[in-house]
Amino acid sequence: MSNNHDVIIVGGGMVGASLAAALGQANLRVAVIENGDAPEAVAAEAEFGLRISSLNLAAVRLLEDIRAWPLIPDARRCRFRRIEAWDEHDSRGITFDADALDLPEFGYFVENRLLCHAVWQRLKALPAVTLHTRTAPQALRHNGDQAELELASGKTLTASLVVGADGASSTIRDLARITTVDHGYQQRALIINVATRLPQQDVSWQRFTPDGPQAMLPLPGHRASLVWYGNPERTREREQLDDETLRDTIDREFPTRLGGVEAVLGRASFPIRRRHARQYSTDRTVLVGDAAHVIHPLAGQGLNLGLQDAATLASELIATTTRSGDPGERQVLARYARRRRPQVLAMIAATEGFHHLFTGPAPLRMVGNAALGLANRVTPGKRLMMRIALGLSPG
Ligand SMILES: Cc1cc2nc3c(=O)[nH]c(=O)nc-3n(C[C@H](O)[C@H](O)[C@H](O)COP(=O)(O)OP(=O)(O)OC[C@H]3O[C@@H](n4cnc5c(N)ncnc54)[C@H](O)[C@@H]3O)c2cc1C
Repeated sequence: MSNNHDVIIVGGGMVGASLAAALGQANLRVAVIENGDAPEAVAAEAEFGLRISSLNLAAVRLLEDIRAWPLIPDARRCRFRRIEAWDEHDSRGITFDADALDLPEFGYFVENRLLCHAVWQRLKALPAVTLHTRTAPQALRHNGDQAELELASGKTLTASLVVGADGASSTIRDLARITTVDHGYQQRALIINVATRLPQQDVSWQRFTPDGPQAMLPLPGHRASLVWYGNPERTREREQLDDETLRDTIDREFPTRLGGVEAVLGRASFPIRRRHARQYSTDRTVLVGDAAHVIHPLAGQGLNLGLQDAATLASELIATTTRSGDPGERQVLARYARRRRPQVLAMIAATEGFHHLFTGPAPLRMVGNAALGLANRVTPGKRLMMRIALGLSPG
């Protein structure tokens, strides 16, 4: 049987699109199925979008490899060179400085929509990639060396492998009958874009409180993205405040080092959960990104993990096809899972540790707060936190 494609990727978000670009560049025949529209260009003078991600250097390297990074204008990406974390009682906390590690920076803050648009620009330029928007899969079958995907548009596509890159509520995961382990935190994250009185600094900070962390992600110019975790009811109440009242509340409740807020420019809130697929692959189907794992965003590592899934899977699939192998073969998918699962489990354990140490019962919080001060002095503790911030395996 001859397949229309080598790989079908369902989900053209940041992870699926990056994987498609890496494979398309190596001349694998790829189809991308996205149930939304192609991402739109963002005007140079537009305000920053609400969804911002911290990208570590490994993620930037992948985006450079697929030549999407230069398509993100300098004026809209914000490099950070320092990370600070402290608790509400002790402002000494822990500090990381890129200089001390001879690194040019720790990473960048970038709008998700801009990143997605940049990667799609690359996809449109790759002849080996076919894009199908506004359609979704309805049925998935496999037959010998063929996976068959039936779309809502009525088309049926065939390939050696189907990749589920369709996010936390993945349809491909369901169609492949892969189950998940789920955990709901009693928390929501309120994201607030603000105009700040102070100019942008190259530091990202986080203060831990018993209700959840408060974080400041710098953006270019007098702009910042604040993330305020809290119990769902209180977060909903804050989200409903008018702009001026919300601004005054931030000025009152956020650390003084924010330097004050001129104006609230936008806000949205998101539920916080953890979800982990019990397996990453089954017959001719494999999962990447949030379809495989959703983690607490407090360490800002979900997308970074997903992009590493994409880089790892791309390297396995390209190596296999270069020696005329079958990219959907069980051993190839097992190798990918073996390389990724321990990294993801270690990151889940680390983010869980942070969450419980700083929002758990008072005795545990005391341990967390002491650990933060201690970690600043004790090299192994600091090294562990550093590895998490850089998106390296904590192990
Ligand atoms: C508050 C918050 C802050 C975060 N901050 C950070 C951060 O600073 N750094 C970081 O690394 N991570 C961060 N994350 C995590 C990060 O946003 C996710 O890990 C990342 O967006 C996952 O990308 P993805 O491409 O796997 O999935 P998604 O971004 O969900 O993309 C999935 C794509 O699939 C499409 N799709 C869905 N269903 C179907 C279907 N049935 N058929 C076809 N297409 C479909 C969707 O339209 C979408 O385009 C944060 C998360 C939250 C909630």
